[in-house]
Amino acid sequence: MKDDISALMADVKAKNPAEPEFHQAVHEVVESLSPVLDRHPEYRKAKILERIIEPERVIMFRVPWQDDQGNMHVNRGFRVEMSSAIGPYKGGLRFHPSVNLGILKFLAFEQVFKNSLTTLPLGGGKGGADFDPKGKSDAEVMRFCQAFMCELFRHIGPDTDVPAGDIGVGHREIGFMFGMYKKLRNEFTGVLTGKRLTWGGSLLRPEATGYGTVYFAAEMLKTRHEELTGKTCLVSGSGNVAQYTIEKLIDLGARPVTLSDSTGYIYDEAGITDEKLAFVMNLKNVRRCRIAEYADKFKSAIYTPANSKLDHNPLWNHKAQCAFPCATQNEINAKDADNLLKNGVYVVSEGANMPTTINGVHRFLDAKILYGPGKAANAGGVATSGLEMSQNSVRLSWTRDEVDTRLHHIMSVIHKICSETAEQYGTPGNYINGANTAGFLKVANAMMDQGLV
Ligand code: NDP
Repeated sequence: MKDDISALMADVKAKNPAEPEFHQAVHEVVESLSPVLDRHPEYRKAKILERIIEPERVIMFRVPWQDDQGNMHVNRGFRVEMSSAIGPYKGGLRFHPSVNLGILKFLAFEQVFKNSLTTLPLGGGKGGADFDPKGKSDAEVMRFCQAFMCELFRHIGPDTDVPAGDIGVGHREIGFMFGMYKKLRNEFTGVLTGKRLTWGGSLLRPEATGYGTVYFAAEMLKTRHEELTGKTCLVSGSGNVAQYTIEKLIDLGARPVTLSDSTGYIYDEAGITDEKLAFVMNLKNVRRCRIAEYADKFKSAIYTPANSKLDHNPLWNHKAQCAFPCATQNEINAKDADNLLKNGVYVVSEGANMPTTINGVHRFLDAKILYGPGKAANAGGVATSGLEMSQNSVRLSWTRDEVDTRLHHIMSVIHKICSETAEQYGTPGNYINGANTAGFLKVANAMMDQGLV
C-alpha cells in the first residue's frame, strides 16, 4: 500500500507542480485512507480517489478595477469547483495577496471532506483572488468586489455553487458581491452565505466557526471527563474565527491569553475578557488596525512583533492546556508542536484550515493528545452556512437559540462520527483518520451511485 501512496503522490506532484499546499492536503488524506481502500477494492477499481483529487472544474479570470486615484489594477480571480457528489459546490472566497491556484485547490479539497462531515448536502469548492483589502477604501473594495462578481456570477447559483467568506472576505465584501449578483441576475436568491441578517443572513453565522471549534474541543475533553472551565488557551489570529473562539472560551469560563495578526502577537497573562474582546472587535472590524494597539491599551499584555527569521512562532511557546490556531495554513510547524507539548498543551482544536504541517500533526498523534483537525473542528461555519441556505429556501429565519442548538448538535455529531470511524478503522482517538475516512466514505458512495461523471 505504501507503494500505492508513493505512486499516487508522485502523479499528483507531476500533474500539479508548484502547489505544495495542495500536495500536503492530498498526502494527509491519502495516508489515512489505506485501510479504507483495502476494505473496499471497488473504490480502487472505480478510481474514486484519483477522481476526488481532480477538481470537477477550475475557473480562473481577470479582475480589472480602478483605485480612488484613477489608477488601473488587474488581479486574478479563481473558483475551484472540486466536488458536487453530495450537493452544490460550497466553500468560501479568500481575498489575500498570497492566494494562488494551489492554495485554493488545497482549501477546496479539504472542504469536500469537511462538508461531507457536516451531515448536510453540501459539495466542496473554494475561490478568491490575490487582492488585498487591507489599506483600501470602502469604495475601492466595492469596485473590486463588483468586478470580481461580474465574471463569477455566470458560474454560481443557489443550486450550483454557493460561495461564502474566508480570510479578507466578511460582511462588507459579501454585501458588495451580493449586490452585483442580484443586479446581473435580477434575482434575490441565497447564492452567497454570510449575508447580513436584514437581507437573508442567518443569526449566529458570524460566530459559528469559532463557537463550533470550541464546541469540538469541549466534546474531545468530555471523553476524558474534563471541561474547558479554568483552562488557559492560546489562540492565534484576530479575525472572525479567532474573535468568536475567544468569545465562546470566555463564556465557558476558560482563560484565552493570546491573539495575533500578520505583524505580531499579544500575550495577556491576565486573560482576555469581554471588555478587551470588544476593543479587539472594534480595532479589527471597524478601524481595521494592528493588534499591537492591544498592548498599548491594556498594560497586562506584552506585544511581540513577527520575526520571519525564527524557526518557530513564539505565540505557541507559553504555558497552557489548549491551543486554537485560527489564523492561516501551516502556522504550527514541528518545532511549534514540540513547544506546545512541552508547555503542557494537550488539546488542539483547529479553527483555521490546515494550520499544522504534516510533521507537526505527527508530533500530536505520537503524543496522543486530543487533536481536532480543521476539517472537523472548524466545520461549524459551513454547517451554519448550510442552515442559512435552508432558511433562504423556505424564506424563514430561525432564532439565535434554534441555530445555536443545531450548531451544537452538528458539532457533537461530527465528533461522534470522527471518533467512531477512527475506532472502526483501527486507530482509536485519531480524529484525523476518523475525519478523512468518514468524509471520504459518504462522497465515495455517492460517486459510486452516480456512475462515471
Ligand atoms: P479573517 O480575515 O477574519 O482573519 C484572519 C486572521 O489571520 C487575521 O488576524 C490575519 O492577520 C491572520 N492572518 C492571515 N494570514 C496570515 C498570515 N499569512 N500570517 C499571519 N497571520 C495571518 O479570516 P477568518 O478568521 O475568516 O479565517 C481564519 C482561518 O479560518 C482561515 O484559515 C480560514 O480558512 C479558516 N476558516 C474560516 C471560516 C469562516 O467561517 N470565516 C470557516 C472555516 C475555516 P492580518 O489581519 O494581519 O492579515
